[in-house]
Amino acid sequence: MNFLKKKISGWGNYPMIETKLKQLTGIDQYESILTFNEPNIVRGLGRSYSDQAVLANGLTLRNKMSRILEFNSDTGLLKAESGISIAEIIEVFLDKGWFPPIVPGTKFITLGGAIANDIHGKAHHVDGTFVNCVSEFSMVTPEKGRIICSRSENEDVFYATFGGLGLLGWIDTVTVQLKKVETSYFKTTAVKVKNLREMIDAFNEYDQNYRYSVAWFDPLARGENLGKGVLSLGNIAKYQDVDSGKQKNPLKLHSQKKLDLPVYLPNFALNKLSGQILNKLIEYSQSNAPALTHYDKFFFPLDAIGQWNRGYGTRGFIQYQFVIPMKDEYKILKEAMNLISSSDCTPFLNVLKKMGKGSKYLSFPMEGYTLAIDFPISKKLPELVRKLDDLVLSAGGRVYLGKDAFLERDVFRKMYPEWEEWQNIKCQLDPKGKIQNETSKRLGLLSYL
Ligand SMILES: Cc1cc2nc3c(=O)[nH]c(=O)nc-3n(C[C@H](O)[C@H](O)[C@H](O)COP(=O)(O)OP(=O)(O)OC[C@H]3O[C@@H](n4cnc5c(N)ncnc54)[C@H](O)[C@@H]3O)c2cc1C
Repeated sequence: MNFLKKKISGWGNYPMIETKLKQLTGIDQYESILTFNEPNIVRGLGRSYSDQAVLANGLTLRNKMSRILEFNSDTGLLKAESGISIAEIIEVFLDKGWFPPIVPGTKFITLGGAIANDIHGKAHHVDGTFVNCVSEFSMVTPEKGRIICSRSENEDVFYATFGGLGLLGWIDTVTVQLKKVETSYFKTTAVKVKNLREMIDAFNEYDQNYRYSVAWFDPLARGENLGKGVLSLGNIAKYQDVDSGKQKNPLKLHSQKKLDLPVYLPNFALNKLSGQILNKLIEYSQSNAPALTHYDKFFFPLDAIGQWNRGYGTRGFIQYQFVIPMKDEYKILKEAMNLISSSDCTPFLNVLKKMGKGSKYLSFPMEGYTLAIDFPISKKLPELVRKLDDLVLSAGGRVYLGKDAFLERDVFRKMYPEWEEWQNIKCQLDPKGKIQNETSKRLGLLSYL
């Protein structure tokens, strides 16, 4: 078997793990995985942050299968191989007036990855997670071979695969519902707020009228300015909105050109001062966004710089993302922000979002507020993360497994009480634990073995 021994990681470049990397290039190869003796995990575009798409002492299978198989131009129903990216789907279907309905903060993820982390976007409070736009997928499993999963066939497996971290089987084809759009622009507005109380009030006031909302806040603000930031809101623009704005092409595609960060910046490059400058720039661009914003800027601003993750240096970074229910949200968010600001860990990017109803099993979202914060790796970081985990758990919340790097088994089990039901499904599909990743080892997801 051909494979490459290589050290790889998730988007956060932490932890770096040696694995046997193998490319999957043809759909028939999925069945051949059944003959592999070694444990393995499928990897999409590696945009999960930590150890989700990598396996030490086993195979990491890079999924390169990305063909479009069927498309119904009347309904927008697309069937494609699971390695196709959101960017590729947009490139093929935007000029026909179709767009993926639920997208994360980067377009460089695959359909397989979108399912495995049940991704959410800026319209979660209205549209929910990725499960809501998938009608069916096919998956090869160690015990049952290829199975079709939908709401009417293998329903439990269907739901358990969303957020299931790729551990139930190798998803090979996905049928996804695209959304009809008249333009590729958003009518946007920005609301500047002075503190956290104003931020929560602004979410409550504007959420009803805007499908898309997300807030940036200054990670370095303290005291009465804690939570100072900008709430960005948007709705998809109609043809007449764009026409009156004199855009030449209402369905304009993202540009293929982007700047690349060619090398890792030295670890000292990101410090309190550069963090302040970065956040001033973000504040300025968020507050002064044009009334009509192209989707690439609106949904995927970070994609403008390729490999921006190298900016954190070779030490790497994490994105700590948690959600807490809609009870005492002001108190808990304030406590979390105070914990962060009184620690020796420097936060760089803070994103706050109101979430709607959650799904099942290991899917992350729940009705409440989610906060995501980038931290460079440092000695003090695990201690801060443990304190934040305790706070989140005490509030009835949980941590996003697609980004997590440090969560401990016992805390995970309390945060995700349906883990045991999920594990029963895993045990039926993969009794010998052939599919593993570093996250499953850390969180004890194969404890039935
Ligand atoms: C800049 C940035 C912004 C982001 N914003 C958001 C956001 O707004 N909302 C959100 O929810 N997430 C967000 N994410 C996280 C990202 O959407 C998820 O981690 C997503 O799963 C990455 O997809 P991928 O194709 O890169 O998968 P990978 O990272 O390669 O893998 C992720 C998981 O999917 C599994 N997997 C991949 N392909 C298959 C397959 N064919 N069959 C079975 N399992 C498979 C892997 O085993 C792994 O467990 C963001 C990430 C970045 C870097």
